[in-house]
Amino acid sequence: MTKLNSRIETTGRIPDEAAGGLLHIDLDALAANWRALRDSAGGAETAAVVKANAYGTGIEQAVPALLRAGCRTFFVAHLSEAIRARAVAPDATIYVLNGLLTGTGPTYAEHDLRPVLGSRDEIEEWAAFSRAQGSRLRAAIHVDTGMNRLGLTVSESLELGGRDVLRDFEPALLMSHFVGAEESENPLNTRQIDAFRAVRQALPGIPASLANSSGIYLAQKPHFDLVRPGYALYGGNPTPDQANPMRPVVGLEGRIVQLRWVEADETVGYNGRWTATSRRRIATISVGYADGYPRSASARGHSGETLLAGMALVAGRPCPFAGTVSMDLITIDVTEAADQVKRGDSVTLIGGDLTVDEVGRRAGTIGYEILTNLRARYARTYRGGEG
Ligand SMILES: *Cc1c(COP(=O)(O)O)cnc(C)c1O
Repeated sequence: MTKLNSRIETTGRIPDEAAGGLLHIDLDALAANWRALRDSAGGAETAAVVKANAYGTGIEQAVPALLRAGCRTFFVAHLSEAIRARAVAPDATIYVLNGLLTGTGPTYAEHDLRPVLGSRDEIEEWAAFSRAQGSRLRAAIHVDTGMNRLGLTVSESLELGGRDVLRDFEPALLMSHFVGAEESENPLNTRQIDAFRAVRQALPGIPASLANSSGIYLAQKPHFDLVRPGYALYGGNPTPDQANPMRPVVGLEGRIVQLRWVEADETVGYNGRWTATSRRRIATISVGYADGYPRSASARGHSGETLLAGMALVAGRPCPFAGTVSMDLITIDVTEAADQVKRGDSVTLIGGDLTVDEVGRRAGTIGYEILTNLRARYARTYRGGEG
């Protein structure tokens, strides 16, 4: 045990044999995805969105890998994430999407960060801060073309044209965000593109950015000067109605800590929500919702029923969850693979046909939430990323 303690202390990571779940992150696939997105972006600069700990993959690992691939511009949601990104990317351009919180100007300046200004108040505050600093500090301007969440309205943006306040700081990017670019036929896409074009004409000379991952693949090619992919970098499918053009980045394994037989009519897990209809082999794995695996993937019903619930690959075979996902454990009906599993074996929770999109669907959510819930509790192994 002393040995284990000292290894955790010296390496700062959980040794595989002591971990409940093993998370594999392929930084070469991340870099390849960035290059594939760049090659689809029609010559626009390709940035990377690394908010939420680089969608769960680790900002300190993902950002250097993306830098080596050639990425120069990063987007995060929070100022604290921007400071983490700056620590590993001293020369990159870093934008904070969620805007300027009152009084945070000095922190932006100290770390050479750029806020994405989403209201007239934020613009006024950044302009005043720039004047006080005696320098035209850079920032992005966010225009809301349909989300009704962050950003100046289209009419507020059109009014900005020619205003003095734009001389006090340097508007380095004009951006908006798609409501549903993954639905390629959604008429909102074209409406947003048209509205964004109109604003761009009223505010000429500012580099423009509209596309997230899915936006890059729209037939309208709304690439403008810079694209901002996130999800697709991490292996999510930006074109859900077609095959996924990206490489998987994240793999997750759980380990079997016990195997047991349950008899017909017995239930498995909290509240007895799943009932065996025949003798079943149940594997218990050491991963649960406290690891970030969604409880909504619980299997409530009977063995043999097709349930929209979690699934694992056990000895290469798809095996359905049985019962409720607990805090630290998941129970799986491995009857179909019963003669091929033993205590200590690994099962695949994300990997192969269990893509992040598929895991999200089975949990009644989206792959984005699966990725961003990946916790520090897993033993993380990074592959590639050098050179
Ligand atoms: C999260 C986010 C992105 C990235 O979106 P993906 O769908 O993950 O590619 C781009 N722009 C803004 C404003 C965002 O909030």
